[in-house]
Amino acid sequence: MNIKTLDDIEVSSKVVLVRLDLNVPLVEGKVTDSTRIDRSIHTIKELQQKGAKIVLMSHFGRPKQADKSLSLAQIVPCLQEALDHSVKFVEDCIGEQVKAAVDELKDGDILLLENLRFHSGEQNNDADFAQELASLADVCVQDALSVAHRAHASTYGINQFIPMVAGRALEKEISALEIGLENPEHPVVAIVGGAKVSTKIDLLKNLVTKVDALVIGGAMANSFLLAQGFNMGKSLVEEDILPTANEIMELAQKANCAIILPIDAVVAWHFEANAPHQTYGVDAMPEDGMMLDIGDLTIAKIESVIEQAKTVLWNGPLGAFELHPFNRGTVSVAQIIAQRTEQNKLISVGGGGDTVSALNDAKAADKFTYLSTAGGAFLEWLEGKSLPTISLLMKN
Ligand code: ADP
Ligand code: MG
Repeated sequence: MNIKTLDDIEVSSKVVLVRLDLNVPLVEGKVTDSTRIDRSIHTIKELQQKGAKIVLMSHFGRPKQADKSLSLAQIVPCLQEALDHSVKFVEDCIGEQVKAAVDELKDGDILLLENLRFHSGEQNNDADFAQELASLADVCVQDALSVAHRAHASTYGINQFIPMVAGRALEKEISALEIGLENPEHPVVAIVGGAKVSTKIDLLKNLVTKVDALVIGGAMANSFLLAQGFNMGKSLVEEDILPTANEIMELAQKANCAIILPIDAVVAWHFEANAPHQTYGVDAMPEDGMMLDIGDLTIAKIESVIEQAKTVLWNGPLGAFELHPFNRGTVSVAQIIAQRTEQNKLISVGGGGDTVSALNDAKAADKFTYLSTAGGAFLEWLEGKSLPTISLLMKN
């Protein structure tokens, strides 16, 4: 994908407005996970080295109006520590006070603006608000995939008024997504799990047209098995999704995409950690039991599919992984992928809120070629949708 990056702009002594995602988890005023901050450090350091005046902007939480408890001032200590540099703060994101703070910046200085969502114009993509933001700077750098699916003033509207390019973190994320789905090495295997088919219909429909094999696990596999006529006992199923499941199976067949469903499952009688359990073939499910994980035969089958693959995409745990030991299938498959990735036999791309926790649980997260923490934006990309911010960053 040919996108505009920091290589396409001159930033020395210019004011550069950088859109980050500083929406980090905060407990009692302390940042508990700084991943989102850490990934943009390179971009900020590079701008500093090039002598830019850096103005950082982000949303934080979901305020309807100004709300002190959601002030970005709380993030300043963590930012300063990550950057090993002082960070100034101004109590708004537009207006005279902000302009004055920007005017005072020297080359290499860093200023953080207050929460963009204190103004409704941010989420409404209001043109006047976007213009006010743009008036602060010469150029805008987008550096968070996690907000690239939202056409807000700071991620989209601002492009009307000043040039917009991708920062290094976003550039890296886009190229990983490209390697995973846009231009992957075949065979490509997608693994999709999670609780519900209904939340992933578009994703499944898009994937079957692009990948060579689709492994379906987690509770969503139950609905597919039910559609094939298997009895699912008390397992989580979506009765009304059966026509959709059949439609996806047909699409896959037309597109020459193999569908791999579980052949055995770990069954329990209570939905809780360490519940007594036993493995059954999917054709021999007990009436009163529920499938909480894939069984060993299924794990072995998935392993053999992965062994054929050059690229693996993953979204959604293969079982109720929060309840140990029903994380076993997810952990085993994660470790197989991690190992083959380490051996350079595979490109692996994963993403999704629970998928990231499951891969952390499996200690496989940092072994994947790329693990996206972008949440909704990652899922929309798997659905084949074009992300508003990225569409503006394309070179024509
Ligand atoms: P992601 O957040 O990565 O996109 P999802 O939210 O779609 O993933 O799915 C994760 C949820 O699916 C987890 O809460 C997990 O417990 C649930 N799940 C997976 N398999 C099962 C199962 N067999 N029975 C019940 N819940 C399941
Ligand atoms: Mg989830």
